[in-house]
Amino acid sequence: MAIIPLYGHEVIRERLLPRIVAGTLPQSLLLHGPAGVGKQRLALWIAQSLLCASDAPPCGKCRECRYAQDLTHPDLTWIFPRPRPKGSDSDPEDIAEDLQDEIAKRAGRHGLYAVPAGTEGIYVATVRFLVRQASRTPALARRKVFVVGDTDRMAQQEGAEVAANAFLKLLEEPPADTWVIATTSAVGSLLPTIRSRVVSVRVPRLDDSAMQAFMADPAVVEALGKADLPAGERERLLLAQGAPGVLLSSTVRKSAVDDARRFIDAATSGNRAELLKLAFVQGHSGARGAFSDILDALTLALYDRMKVGTQRADAAVSSGASRAIDLVEEAKRLADANVSPLLISARLLTDLSRVLH
Ligand SMILES: [Zn+2]
Repeated sequence: MAIIPLYGHEVIRERLLPRIVAGTLPQSLLLHGPAGVGKQRLALWIAQSLLCASDAPPCGKCRECRYAQDLTHPDLTWIFPRPRPKGSDSDPEDIAEDLQDEIAKRAGRHGLYAVPAGTEGIYVATVRFLVRQASRTPALARRKVFVVGDTDRMAQQEGAEVAANAFLKLLEEPPADTWVIATTSAVGSLLPTIRSRVVSVRVPRLDDSAMQAFMADPAVVEALGKADLPAGERERLLLAQGAPGVLLSSTVRKSAVDDARRFIDAATSGNRAELLKLAFVQGHSGARGAFSDILDALTLALYDRMKVGTQRADAAVSSGASRAIDLVEEAKRLADANVSPLLISARLLTDLSRVLH
């Protein structure tokens, strides 16, 4: 089943296409920008354009385009965070099978998927698989393309130096027929050794018209119909903040939702001791991805609060919640810039208690 079209990002497309046609697109790219703006979808579009057999890529009609749109092109390898493999030394075949299963599921949902849980990562066996694929000749097309989602989640594991170095070498000197398109929404936490080897492209948020086109796509309408989301278009636009992926990830993990509630309870009660305790726990909760989940859950919880305030015509509650949403967005920006979760939590809790109390 074909994935939904790429919505928005026209400026980047217009900038990259002439280089794709001329064969001068840098072979190691990094797409970075806010979570959920469609960086991996854009990367898949670039991959399709690189593989397309026509003179006006991506034509959408040739064999390469059709396989790329179905996520079945053998020369397009897409890797992204997955649960830690069971054995310590997984076979690349197992990795390939796990990725293929997940990609088939995503294709079955027209390429729509929720953000991976904070505990998922790109483990060393996956990097080994990637490096092995890169050494092979293309199966169908003239080229091969690798899309690496959430590259910042590449786990630094003991004994992984050989794989890590092979990946860096791939970024530095890709084979002539190979492109690597990495993405990240946390560019600050990306290893400097990776950053220095790629050409960075900033991917902005979508404007309202692109968001509306995305939300009107039949596959999206169907997917969002099942999600726990506000029904109104205006509310959805507000919630997404130009990042359509946010709407698909409304099933934020339950623990993150509980943590978000505790944040809001502590902030509304103005209980200083509880606030400090929460800030400390959040600061030490380890996985950065888990912290981002909590911030996403906070946005949703605050959105609910704003809705309740509006329904009860309680302007203080709704405007407080609306200001709190801005504060959480600012916290997300800081988290992307690699500021410590402890500092962000402490500041956010103080600010939230000011606007919610
Ligand atoms: Zn084509």
